[in-house]
Amino acid sequence: MQTILLIEDEKSIARFIELELSHEGYQVIKAEDGRAGLELAEKGGWDLMLLDIMLPGLNGLEVLRRLRRSCDLPVIMLTARDAVMDKVTGLDTGADDYITKPFSIEELLARIRTALRKQQSLQQLLLTVGPLQMDIARHTVSVNDQPVDLTGREFSLLQYLMENQSIVLSRESLMEKVWGYDYMGETNIVDVYIRYLRGKIDEPFDVKLLHTVRGVGYTLREDKREG
Ligand code: CA
Repeated sequence: MQTILLIEDEKSIARFIELELSHEGYQVIKAEDGRAGLELAEKGGWDLMLLDIMLPGLNGLEVLRRLRRSCDLPVIMLTARDAVMDKVTGLDTGADDYITKPFSIEELLARIRTALRKQQSLQQLLLTVGPLQMDIARHTVSVNDQPVDLTGREFSLLQYLMENQSIVLSRESLMEKVWGYDYMGETNIVDVYIRYLRGKIDEPFDVKLLHTVRGVGYTLREDKREG
């Protein structure tokens, strides 16, 4: 179940949103002022935040500003009609979207679905296996936050291994996925590239991520076993 944090001080609006979103299958937790909301938000575990701007305690923009220091939770701002400055400032501060009161529940649901979908596709572009991270959109790889320089082919091979972490992949399937069906070169090319990757990832960072499964192929997983 996806969990939404709703920070809204107007009880009737908060109650209405809570009822409608619960009906749609979301779990909704409410906070009535900025400080309490920020505290809840920072605890994490949320899929999305709905954030009113005019709030007691801390206003919504300040909540967003503080939250953004540490967190990329999707945030939809709830703004008053024609508060253009709030919208601009909200988006500048890192809101993903805003919706103007009064709004229809259908519109709010559509905005929520879009924000959740966007977040999901961003997460799919980030692969993590233990200390190893790959940002597919930026085409970067790092181990323990230290950048690793890979060639295009090394990157593709590593990406396929990361997408299938802990699954043993045969040389043939790696060849097909990374080099393509028509590849006519050396058949030990996979072994050669696994060696390159070990030389750039396992060895310099003293980790053990690339494992040989004798007679079968290779797998990428985080553990201490020898392979
Ligand atoms: Ca308010």
